[in-house]
Amino acid sequence: MSLQQTYSGSCHCGRVRFEVDTELARASTCNCSICHRVGWTMISVEPARFRLLAGDDAQTNYQFGRKTMHHLFCSTCGVHAFGRFESDGTEKVIVNVRCLDGVELGALEVQAFDGKSY
Ligand SMILES: [Zn+2]
Repeated sequence: MSLQQTYSGSCHCGRVRFEVDTELARASTCNCSICHRVGWTMISVEPARFRLLAGDDAQTNYQFGRKTMHHLFCSTCGVHAFGRFESDGTEKVIVNVRCLDGVELGALEVQAFDGKSY
């Protein structure tokens, strides 16, 4: 049985709003230099399961290193609600589950991803 649902999410000020279709049983933290600082708890979804409703022009795109990841954040409130990964034709949307409505973080199985080693 699929537990896929549509979740709505946003940054803090509401300029960036989106919907994502996903099962939400588990999520990941990451110890890479940026996730460690920002405190992401994330899931990865296919771009087709993600719909940006507002805020395409309200975000800053921060990139570093190999630049496979677009670390987007709201230019007004600074919240990192999602990012876009692109490498060798693979695209993923990385969603910060902390920005989804009605998600109880404590109810999720959170796994630690060793992004530092990549
Ligand atoms: Zn904002």
